[in-house]
Amino acid sequence: MAKTSCVNGHPMWNGDGKPVLWIFRTGYFREYEEKHPNTVLAEDGYVPQIYDLCEDVYKEELDGWYCDECKSVAVFCENTRYDYVLKEKLPEYSYDQTEDWEEYIALRDDDFEDFQEFYEKKKPFDAIQSYRFKYTYRLSPDEKIILAFDQDKKPAFAYELKRFIDFDKQNEEKEEETENDPPFDIEKFCQMAEEEAMQMLGVGLDYSRSSIHLLDEMVLRIRSMYKKKLIDDTVLWNLAVTLGTYYGEVMLKDLLAERGLSWDDSEHPPVLADKGKGTIIKPINTVHHAMFVSEASANNYLWSDYGNIRLLADMYLSK
Ligand SMILES: [Zn+2]
Repeated sequence: MAKTSCVNGHPMWNGDGKPVLWIFRTGYFREYEEKHPNTVLAEDGYVPQIYDLCEDVYKEELDGWYCDECKSVAVFCENTRYDYVLKEKLPEYSYDQTEDWEEYIALRDDDFEDFQEFYEKKKPFDAIQSYRFKYTYRLSPDEKIILAFDQDKKPAFAYELKRFIDFDKQNEEKEEETENDPPFDIEKFCQMAEEEAMQMLGVGLDYSRSSIHLLDEMVLRIRSMYKKKLIDDTVLWNLAVTLGTYYGEVMLKDLLAERGLSWDDSEHPPVLADKGKGTIIKPINTVHHAMFVSEASANNYLWSDYGNIRLLADMYLSK
């Protein structure tokens, strides 16, 4: 059983390996019958079924999902997804005016089973043409409108395209995004931390263990600026990255490098880790967290955090 959501956020599912909507393009079966005039459906009551004839055929294998709640339809075709919603006003097209539109049949499971019984030992296109479908559907050339015609060829209802997703394109964009991720430039971030310290406190940072006290002081000030809404979430996070990088560098220089830890920037944000990744220390997350704890806890937060890490390092990490 597979699950997805409709375009309006309702959960949809397809059970027993059956799609909720069986959709077939009529023209495909016309062409198929021309090429394979001897094919008869469900011979001996079994194979081929109509869906066997379009299986793995480029753009002819359509996977349709129907939302019981809002009656929207999702159609998966190759690596794309079309979401159609019911159109309130019926567009003014007659059957004849839509001659050049692509024609489809679409059936819910129960209706499809009736059709299956009907098409036994018939040729596929003949079967489609002679069966009394409740509706036939026509798709506008720009794929934006689906018009349903009843058995008297009168327009009954219409769907309009609300969303189109090209999954291949989406993946390409994602890959580009990751490529454009700024590299983790330790030197640059530390330099930015030094500049911040100079601006905020009028002192430099010397990478000594005791300079963590200065970081604590900076965190307190940043925290209060954030509370007064003088800086926003993005600025707060950027400050956490710069101060956190400096914090991590102090830890490495002071103790953790000799115990086998180094920056691992495959994580976001980067962390300090040993090669086996048994130990992971997250200075950037810790600094960010320190900006949110109560003022009492924020006092000397990083200093006491580092005290704990030193204790753990002495207990567990190889010298
Ligand atoms: Zn829905």
